[in-house]
Amino acid sequence: MEKLQNFINGTYVPPKNGQYIDNYEPATGQVYALIPDSDEEDVLAAVDAAEKAFPIWSNMSIEERSKILVRLSEGIERNMDEFVQAESRDNGKPVSLAAHVDIPRAVSNFHFFATAITHFASESHHMEGVGINFTTRKPIGIVGCISPWNLPLYLFSWKIAPALAAGNCVIAKPSEITPYTAYMLGKMAQEAGMPAGVLNILHGTGPKVGDAIVKHPKIKAISFTGGTKTGEYIARTAGPMFKKLSLELGGKNPNIIFADCNFDDMLSTTIRSSFANQGQICLCGSRIFVERPIYEKFKEAFVAKVSRSKVSFPSDPEAKLGAIVSEAHMEKILSYIALAKEEGGTVLTGGNRVHLPAPHDQGYYIEPTIIEGLSYDCRTNQEEIFGPVVTITPFDTEEEALMMANSTMYGLAGTIWTTNLNRAHRVADQLQSGIVWVNAWLVRDLRTPFGGVKASGVGREGGWEALRFFTEAKNIFIKYE
Ligand code: NDP
Repeated sequence: MEKLQNFINGTYVPPKNGQYIDNYEPATGQVYALIPDSDEEDVLAAVDAAEKAFPIWSNMSIEERSKILVRLSEGIERNMDEFVQAESRDNGKPVSLAAHVDIPRAVSNFHFFATAITHFASESHHMEGVGINFTTRKPIGIVGCISPWNLPLYLFSWKIAPALAAGNCVIAKPSEITPYTAYMLGKMAQEAGMPAGVLNILHGTGPKVGDAIVKHPKIKAISFTGGTKTGEYIARTAGPMFKKLSLELGGKNPNIIFADCNFDDMLSTTIRSSFANQGQICLCGSRIFVERPIYEKFKEAFVAKVSRSKVSFPSDPEAKLGAIVSEAHMEKILSYIALAKEEGGTVLTGGNRVHLPAPHDQGYYIEPTIIEGLSYDCRTNQEEIFGPVVTITPFDTEEEALMMANSTMYGLAGTIWTTNLNRAHRVADQLQSGIVWVNAWLVRDLRTPFGGVKASGVGREGGWEALRFFTEAKNIFIKYE
């Protein structure tokens, strides 16, 4: 069976303790590779390599650094099909999704930040007759990047690319559940001519190797995407060490649909925003609020279309939904469906595990599920499920919709459907959310700030925000005369 390796100091190496953990294929439920069960010893080796590489990388001209990152993005693009197949196999997502979203976006992430850094400037503040302030922005040093399993290479590269572009050396850990494309990235870094030690990729579990990254005193910043509980633990651990922290956490996103919306556009987009990637995108809308005059029409059309969505193995070109990422996550989602019934919800469609024929009979599949009849403040409507499960709820007034939308501890993203421009502005302004789409979903411009409010996170990624996070500002004042 294939054994993945860590990527440290420019080469692939086994974990120091010689231990490995199983890597499952969600589509079949079978183990198909082994991944290093790395620990603190591997972090020490990576920090050592990164420390040696930092003067080389941070002093390299921006143009040269940019060229290496462009070559890295081109390397992924050249090997597109291999990356697409690997991502789909490791995560369970339909091949078509990996081909259209995940891997092209990883290419863009590297390309975007490789070129952004060549335009990154800092401010100066002139004080009339007194002097001038100018601000320098230098790389932090060694930074840690920890990412989740839902969009594996997409989110891994979204952190690594700005960190590297800004001149830092990186110690990165992908999710143990989806390590494969991060493993392939090491080879792309080698081929792009990235100096040894600049990018180090460690595999293993969060509590073991992730924790060792968070706690290492020479790792000065942590960029983390994952669950709110893990983010809270990381903040508690890294905060007292005065590390810079960027935390992109969970969500329970609302869709607010007004009766005057463009119905067809809203319906097809709402199906995507509910069930793309089996509902395992942090930006998916899981609480759908519909203005009462169109509630029954929406319900009928939504249920009819969703109940025809094909759940199938990832390489089936007709699959609208693929496999859930792991058995444990599938069980969690099914337990929330059971909870929704206990709380008085009615399952309008879905609600069950899907058993496909062999060789996918042990795979982790769940029907797309729509539930109605729940109060906005019940657990099903307050806690993140992160699967193909949505609730629908009618509302009568704008105030009521906003009250329900804003009632959770989260505030990552929201969508508003209306053709009334004034209302669009009003509601967008009032939503407690880091990201709002009006009459759209998941339209992404990499220059915009990305992140959430409340328990959905701290800090913003994207564009200059990311480059500012991965640099330290120093203000220098020089007196005139
Ligand atoms: P987790 O928080 O479980 O894990 C995220 C990463 O952190 C994994 O690599 C994990 O390792 C690691 N980790 C776990 N414990 C620790 C620890 N003690 N110290 C350091 N690292 C640790 O999240 P999931 O992987 O389950 O991802 C799903 C979550 O991510 C959802 O809540 C979703 O909303 C959120 N998310 C947020 C996004 C955003 O932009 N706001 C985008 C995408 C997802 P391991 O491999 O062991 O799991």
